[in-house]
Amino acid sequence: YRSKAKGRGIYTIFTHEMVESHKRKLSIANSIDQGISQDEFVLYYQPKVARDGKLVGFEALIRWQHPEFGMVNPAEFIPIAEQSGKISAITRWVIERVSIELPLLQSVFEDKFRVAVNLSGHDLRHSGLFDLIHSIFTQQQVNPEYIEFEVTESAYLENFAFANKFFRRLSNMGCAIALDDFGTGYSSLSYLTQISIDTLKIDRQFVRELGTSDRSRLVTNSIIDLAKRLSLTICAEGIEHVSQWEYLLEHGCDHVQGYLFSKPIPLEEVANLPARFSFSDSASRQASN
Ligand code: C2E
Ligand code: MG
Ligand code: MG
Ligand code: MG
Repeated sequence: YRSKAKGRGIYTIFTHEMVESHKRKLSIANSIDQGISQDEFVLYYQPKVARDGKLVGFEALIRWQHPEFGMVNPAEFIPIAEQSGKISAITRWVIERVSIELPLLQSVFEDKFRVAVNLSGHDLRHSGLFDLIHSIFTQQQVNPEYIEFEVTESAYLENFAFANKFFRRLSNMGCAIALDDFGTGYSSLSYLTQISIDTLKIDRQFVRELGTSDRSRLVTNSIIDLAKRLSLTICAEGIEHVSQWEYLLEHGCDHVQGYLFSKPIPLEEVANLPARFSFSDSASRQASN
């Protein structure tokens, strides 16, 4: 009897949580339009750093200051936006926002850099995205050579024909293209010779395990080696410790990104970033969360 009661109790809690999570999802999906019109979204920028510590660009990462739920992370609301058909409105907002904010970044950093925009796989199922990007860039006088687009390896491969054509057009216009979260999904690499990309981004998972896993080191070394042979730039994300940066430098990685250098920060704070990062006292310097 007791265990039965206990079992029922657990069952009830589980159901309640499911209902709550479903409600939250619905509520998030239903407030996306309003979030855009009320300016609740904001772009944070995370620096990308070259081998000599110099800043080479930023990744634009969206945040949502939700009136009911507080700060909502993209990991939560992007999938909901994808499922509810709202992602194209968000993508459009991000591209417009980056275009508006780019001149501010350009006024702070004299050297050439790129701002990376993340695209969803769902964006690659709609023709018209190229024309939209082209018209926003024209209207806002954006030099495409300051822009990079990131798409995950899986999103690219799931929409292969469209993606190939679309990214080639962006590339011809002067944008750079990066394959995000590389190494996590696919065993076949033959497609790499057929696509139009500039950069491979090593997934954070491999970087996290550099110190503990022989296999992660092996995979990381192989990805770097592969990128070099294909004349692609290699970027590693999720660097939190100097030892990880040192390892990646030693093995030829071009660009790095991670909390060691900076968390994603709002536009107002970008001007405070150093133009060059260095960690001389490497033993004691660790990224703080
Ligand atoms: P991503 O494109 O792979 O972005 C990297 C994520 O890793 C970001 O999370 C970033 O804040 C986080 N990160 C960077 N350095 C470190 C580090 O050293 N340690 C740890 N633990 N994390 C680090 P964020 O901003 O929460 O974004 C999560 C994902 O949401 C992104 O993964 C991307 O797939 C998606 N996303 C973000 N912004 C956009 C956007 O504007 N459009 C679309 N479609 N997706 C976006
Ligand atoms: Mg990305
Ligand atoms: Mg990534
Ligand atoms: Mg990722």
